[in-house]
Amino acid sequence: MSLNQNRHQNRIVCRIYFLAILSFLFFLPESVPAASEYERKSFQRAIIDYQRHLNPRFGKTPRNQTKYIIVHTSESGLQSALKTVSSGKRTHNGNRTFGGHAHYVIARNGSAYRTLNIDYVADHAGLSMWDGQTNISKVSIGIELVGYHYEPLTVQQYRSVKILIKILQSKYNLNDRAVLTHSQVAYGRPNQWFSGNHRGRKRCAKNFERTRAGLGQTWYFDPDVRAGRLTEDKELSAIFYGSPSVMVASKAATNVISKTNTAWSIAGEDFNSAQTIYQLPGGQAITGDKIESMVGWSRIPPNTIVLLNQQNAPFDLSRNETGSGTGPIKIISDGKTAWSFAGRKYNSRSTFYFLPSGMVADGTRISAWDDLPSQTRLIIGYHGPFTINKSRKAHCIAGHRIRDERTVYYLPSRQVYTGNKISDFSGLPHGTMVFLPAL
Ligand SMILES: [Zn+2]
Repeated sequence: MSLNQNRHQNRIVCRIYFLAILSFLFFLPESVPAASEYERKSFQRAIIDYQRHLNPRFGKTPRNQTKYIIVHTSESGLQSALKTVSSGKRTHNGNRTFGGHAHYVIARNGSAYRTLNIDYVADHAGLSMWDGQTNISKVSIGIELVGYHYEPLTVQQYRSVKILIKILQSKYNLNDRAVLTHSQVAYGRPNQWFSGNHRGRKRCAKNFERTRAGLGQTWYFDPDVRAGRLTEDKELSAIFYGSPSVMVASKAATNVISKTNTAWSIAGEDFNSAQTIYQLPGGQAITGDKIESMVGWSRIPPNTIVLLNQQNAPFDLSRNETGSGTGPIKIISDGKTAWSFAGRKYNSRSTFYFLPSGMVADGTRISAWDDLPSQTRLIIGYHGPFTINKSRKAHCIAGHRIRDERTVYYLPSRQVYTGNKISDFSGLPHGTMVFLPAL
């Protein structure tokens, strides 16, 4: 790209920012245009009816009152979410549920699924309380957004959820204060962090940006904390009722453990679940139920990655080959996104993606983050590629690191190997790309 083109692009980018700021000033949340009649109708026509997948053992109970709309994040991919919501899941004490865990599921591409008729009670909020009212499931609609509480929801999801909320608000005569996230209304019994009943059991949808869903007026305090019924969770309070700067800082949290981002702040009540996986920086993967005995909660190393809801995407801890999660090559699949592996480095120049199509690109070159296909492989913290050709063999490129388990080779056949898996380097075809770990 020439310097001129660059400058031209910069100018366009500046103009876009300027327009964005301008439009923000003129169209503050209150004036987000309501969905048009046409939009509502076409949205309703496009809803995919998924109710035939509902577990026949789910008991349907009519809902007598509708006071709230509760937004969740599924903490899983689309297939897992639909499966759990419709057929049920294993609970902490080993029991099973019979599905009916949401009325709607909204996929990353904005497609909406009807998983339970809105006339019935969905079992979506569990132990919950708002403004003194308990068992919120009985008086609310549950919307499940496919995604994770620690990474952004998509433009398409906001577009859909905004229309859906408008439709439900007019049906049940609800104002914007009636729309809450699961993390706002869930509460937990005393545990090792709290001596009393408390917020923070769920982190679900803490990344939900109300204004992007067309919502204005909200709660400026937690009514149950204020009334002394519950102990506050400081992080959630900061997000929902704090000053805007605190909100931004808290929302930047990831699923990577640090001094301030603990197992509890990432996983909530799922911190010690067998379906939560802790991927240690050394590559070891340990399930939540074994952390206490194998590592100890206070000794989880920083940079450990936490993956939730791994029951439907089994993680074979005995495997120790390329792509199992223990080597440098990570694989995007249901439940594991670019963000789950790379955190904030997902769009960095030193993170490289190998798409199933054969395209190889660093993080700065990818824009369609929500459409990254399953089985895309990635490596984090590398420079390159250095291409093998007639005059430049692998040893010229990698030197003493040629056989290193961190040196990555991408063959024209689209296979990816680490140095320790290759026996004959002279057999590497021309066009093989070599990636060296950035030290
Ligand atoms: Zn939830």
